[in-house]
Amino acid sequence: MKPASIEDFETMAVHAGRSGLTQLGVHALPIDLSTTSPLADIIEGGNSYETLASGHSLGEGDSSVYRRLWNPTVARFESAITELETWAFRARGAEADDIETIAFASGMAAISALLLSRVGLGLNHVVAVRPLYGGTDHLLASGLLGTQVDFVQASGVASAIGKNTGLVIIESPANPSLDLVDIRQIVAAAGTVPVMVDNTFATPVLQQPLDLGVTFSVHSATKYLGGHGDAMGGTITTTSENAAHLRQVRAITGGLLDPLTAYLLHRGIPTLSMRVRAQEQTAIALANWFQGRPEVERTFYPGLPECDPTGLVASQMYGSGAMVSIDLAGGFDAAEAFCKGLNLITHAVSLGGVDSLIQHPAALTHRLVPSDAKPSQGLLRVSVGLESFADLVLDLESGFGRIKE
Ligand SMILES: *Cc1c(COP(=O)(O)O)cnc(C)c1O
Repeated sequence: MKPASIEDFETMAVHAGRSGLTQLGVHALPIDLSTTSPLADIIEGGNSYETLASGHSLGEGDSSVYRRLWNPTVARFESAITELETWAFRARGAEADDIETIAFASGMAAISALLLSRVGLGLNHVVAVRPLYGGTDHLLASGLLGTQVDFVQASGVASAIGKNTGLVIIESPANPSLDLVDIRQIVAAAGTVPVMVDNTFATPVLQQPLDLGVTFSVHSATKYLGGHGDAMGGTITTTSENAAHLRQVRAITGGLLDPLTAYLLHRGIPTLSMRVRAQEQTAIALANWFQGRPEVERTFYPGLPECDPTGLVASQMYGSGAMVSIDLAGGFDAAEAFCKGLNLITHAVSLGGVDSLIQHPAALTHRLVPSDAKPSQGLLRVSVGLESFADLVLDLESGFGRIKE
């Protein structure tokens, strides 16, 4: 259910992370590119260093010391994401004071830092529910960061948890098949083990994981948050205590977000809701249209009743999103021909931007996923952009035309 809002999400998003600009005498977001910052004196500089190196936020009068520890442009973007990810709480009048966001150079840098922070606590076992983004799946399966993973069904989470389990990882809607996971059920099954939800596909507009009991809400900001296909980043929103630990990991391992990129990502936030809502409307129309095409064996879209038999869109989301996948009856050959017939829709990985993209997960984003968990060879994933429905249909018809040739 949508909470009774004290302020519209749209209004909040337009102003998120922009407090104090008037006092600074500026209207647009300021960019601070300094890699180092002047210190008042040795003692105060040392104190600031101590504060930041232990993962705490910059206090009044502290120096930023060094960009790897702190950057004000990045911190503004982080505070904007915190506002977005805590909207549902705050709309109900609840406090969200101890929630913070930490931004990274990419979604994978964010997930890596989270895994390292758990390993650092001596908790190296991860329980993960497939499907996941191919990069996340591969990172876990490779054990590169010292984690051990058990991939389970949603129903198997509780029994997979052991004394070393530091994290449960889920994605909903999941990449690339748009599978939905009952987030509250996973949180209950995980017990005291924190749950991470990859919220990239849903965006904070459509899903508020922390409000569902999740500890870590993660984004590839490269996708919808930036929204224009020109900036790469990642975020984790969590409690201040966890945030301090993640900031320490970030400071030590250096996977930080660049301030120019933070600026670009932040600039996309005011239009996030409008973009997602408009793209969603077109996605709903396209999902229905795909269902009438004989070449499409199955359409995957959370808004279709058969893709959401237990009503999770209604119970944990505020909409069904703008990602649609189709499984073509003709398998790989049909997918290959189809992509060659498209002109308007770009054949490229990534998603969430203003223009529509299509890609073949089995060959690309999920190439490194083992064969028993790999998407079907006929599956194509469409990120629906802001083009008109009519123009997209014309282009897709041209793709379908190629299959028959
Ligand atoms: C793209 C993506 C990632 C990885 O993010 P990068 O910014 O590419 O590192 C993680 N999860 C999901 C769901 C994604 O789509």
